[in-house]
Amino acid sequence: MADCLFCKIVSGDVPSKVVRESAGTLAFRDINPQAPTHVLVIPKAHHATVGDLAAADAELLAEVLREAHRVAVDEGVAEAGYRIVFNTGAQAGQTVFHVHAHVLGGRGLNWPPG
Ligand code: 5GP
Repeated sequence: MADCLFCKIVSGDVPSKVVRESAGTLAFRDINPQAPTHVLVIPKAHHATVGDLAAADAELLAEVLREAHRVAVDEGVAEAGYRIVFNTGAQAGQTVFHVHAHVLGGRGLNWPPG
């Protein structure tokens, strides 16, 4: 999508710090990290929310989740514990409407989130 920030990251028009790539996904560091590990995993194809992606391509959603776990392993946070978050909709804090999994780890994470 022409106006989508994360589509521009996929195309390379907007630079990012890529940590992993698979056939269908890209993982890159969040520009404003909220934890020592804060990586975003996105499908290369544009889908606005996780619900949209689940309905359109469940296998691609599974690939996003597999890659998110691989990021946690690669970053060394999988054993201690990490969190995968899909903010979904404006009230939940979604600001970029190209679905992305936040992978957060490397510190204690409170529950419930704010
Ligand atoms: P959301 O609020 O939609 O759940 O998450 C969007 C995330 O994208 C935020 O954590 C924000 O810091 C991150 N972000 C926004 N713009 C950019 C950017 O240009 N590059 C990168 N790497 N992350 C971004």
